[in-house]
Amino acid sequence: MRLVIALGGNALLHRHEPPEAATQVARLALAAPALARLAVQHQVVFVHGNGPQVGLLARESTDDATLTAPYPLAALDAETQGLIGSLLTQALHNAGLAGPIVTLVTHTVIDADDPAMGEPTKFIGAVYDHHRAHRLAADHGWDIARDGDGWRRVVFSPLPQRIVELHAGATLLDTGATVIMGGGGGIPLTDHDGYTPVEAVIDKDHTAALLARALGAEQLVILTDVPGALTDYGTPDERVIGDTTPGLLRALPFPAGSMGPKVDAACTFVENTGKPAAIGALEHAEEVVDGIVGTQITPGPASRAGRL
Ligand code: ADP
Ligand code: MG
Repeated sequence: MRLVIALGGNALLHRHEPPEAATQVARLALAAPALARLAVQHQVVFVHGNGPQVGLLARESTDDATLTAPYPLAALDAETQGLIGSLLTQALHNAGLAGPIVTLVTHTVIDADDPAMGEPTKFIGAVYDHHRAHRLAADHGWDIARDGDGWRRVVFSPLPQRIVELHAGATLLDTGATVIMGGGGGIPLTDHDGYTPVEAVIDKDHTAALLARALGAEQLVILTDVPGALTDYGTPDERVIGDTTPGLLRALPFPAGSMGPKVDAACTFVENTGKPAAIGALEHAEEVVDGIVGTQITPGPASRAGRL
């Protein structure tokens, strides 16, 4: 089976953790055995997120007194593809995946007129308290928004329209390689008069859905730091939505910039292909793929009862 598996950037670096390299290595080492088994059993494309990592690089660049301007987000996206691709490759190899593992530096074309270029929604970097976040916003011209119990920088997050390296990825898959591509949603470009980088971070969940469709994947699997899409999120009554349909899921509200893009990407894949998608916890990767845990989305009449 061909699978596209999206790995959450926040699952590698938890929200309130210092962004240490060793933390990401340790977390990948924990996740890698299950991911490696999946990559032995199936043809797998991994699409990792990069919100915490690109935010860290942006903060470092902002703080670098030798620079007249921080590095553009597109350049930092490219850096995170190398970083996370390398860490994931080492972890999969060390977990016993013997075949070739290839990370593709991937560019994603977006529409310059995308309305998302006017409204920042994508969280990047660390979580700050209210006071610190407002200070940083004033000092650096950041947009900030509330994320759970703290505040984070938010950036534009346009929808991916075309993956430049799609055919290279398909060719690598056909040769038996495990492919890491579309990391951080891909390096965002417009393509009018040549490629031009865009100051944005594409949500990797949308890129994973686009890749899954274009590569003819049998399933889209979105692994993150929560057990699935939850009802009554953040309350004592929160529960995982189990088996469901795009119709049922789309009727519920989910926040832009976190669970919203996962639900939208998963539903869009199911609607467009008739094939299943799943959202679940990274630490239960195999059970999520097997449909045992997590939010399992299959096509069906909108009236079909969702099982909570
Ligand atoms: P990733 O790095 O995996 O893309 P995100 O932070 O973008 O992770 O999205 C997952 C987060 O979405 C969860 O950690 C949780 O804080 C948040 N979230 C918001 N609403 C919900 C909800 N209704 N159900 C589950 N998670 C939610
Ligand atoms: Mg995300």
